[in-house]
Amino acid sequence: MGQGTENDAQLNRPLASFDASRAAIAEAGRRLPGGVSSNFRYGIAPTPLVFERADGPWLFDIDGNRLIDYYLGMGPMILGHTPPAVLDAVREQLGRGILYGGQSRLEARAAELFCELVPCAEKLRFTSSGSEAVQAALALARAATGRHTVIDFEGHYHGWIPAGEVELLCWNDLAALETRLARGDVAAVIMEPAMCNAGAIHPAPGYLEGARAACSRHGTLLVFDEVITGFRLAPGGAQQLFGVTPDLATFGKCVASGFPVAAVAGRADLLDLFVSGNALHGGTYNANPASMAAALATLQALADGSVLQSIAPRGERLMQGLGQALREAGITAVVAGFPQIFHVGFGLTEPARDHRDLARLDRARYVRFCCELLARRVRALERGAWFLSAVHDDAVIEATIDAAFEAARAVAAEAG
Ligand code: PMP
Repeated sequence: MGQGTENDAQLNRPLASFDASRAAIAEAGRRLPGGVSSNFRYGIAPTPLVFERADGPWLFDIDGNRLIDYYLGMGPMILGHTPPAVLDAVREQLGRGILYGGQSRLEARAAELFCELVPCAEKLRFTSSGSEAVQAALALARAATGRHTVIDFEGHYHGWIPAGEVELLCWNDLAALETRLARGDVAAVIMEPAMCNAGAIHPAPGYLEGARAACSRHGTLLVFDEVITGFRLAPGGAQQLFGVTPDLATFGKCVASGFPVAAVAGRADLLDLFVSGNALHGGTYNANPASMAAALATLQALADGSVLQSIAPRGERLMQGLGQALREAGITAVVAGFPQIFHVGFGLTEPARDHRDLARLDRARYVRFCCELLARRVRALERGAWFLSAVHDDAVIEATIDAAFEAARAVAAEAG
């Protein structure tokens, strides 16, 4: 599709309205609390949306709007919404039945490829969500160490299930972590190796290496939560990109292009605690064959790194274009992170280094910017993250930047 066509489709049209979605959400609210099935889909301005279908980089809602999508299913759709190889593999598998209550050859093949790609992965267990993978990792860490306390970090997210005895520290502060670990009672340190749920913050130079060394020194297991970074920052995840290998890591999202597949992976001696009886793990839907077909096809597509490399220049162009749109409208903001996932922080003057810097975010104004973008048929997460896919081509990126210029001007005019 030519750039002109794409831009015409995006702009030069009346602003989009979402009345049908608003009405459908209100109606669904009679049976579904808030009209939704996850708290993270609730309370979104101007209304949570209701979709009819998706294709490539686009979502089609019930108001008849075609939206360029940067939610990407909250991250998983790195190959776009309708990746042909994944869909073919799933269709073929569905012809062979849905759920066996037993193993398939597919899951062994997916596990083999997974372990080839991910540095820490000697073995893994598939789960059905990232939240479960985190629970499994912490159960392994507690079983292995006989300790209970887990260190987590401000602003990091590891799923919706409470993790038990947890202490919070400020991320990227190595001295604080070293001091706490020296007490010798910590089972695991769990962190997003690049902070992506709040901000898109790089680890400070030496931080991951220092955390690795401190964990080893004090008998604590290092767990990287790669549910967002896995297969997105590099085929082997953030641990490959930054060259620091944790004892355990959790994955989800990009593993299977939107099918419910996640995993806990790591040292074989730790994963084997699931069979020695010290740690329990189950799940009716784990490694269901259609999802494993999706996982295998997705990992095959991502394995040689060329897909991620193709996203990089487009992500960089989008980061630069958004930054320029905001600057020219006089809006103070920082666009930072990685080309495959970055963060737009209104109110910041330099990239955040930790969660405390994010206290300065002008969240309300950013929500207004998202509403203006949505009116111009670009859907971006209100919390500031932008996910890129392999099918956000140059024309889609340029159309997004054009919409961002208009949206930024609209927000600036409002404030004035
Ligand atoms: N860990 C991280 C880093 C995440 O971003 C998420 C989901 N956003 C989870 C864990 C939980 O994954 P799920 O939603 O699949 O349970």
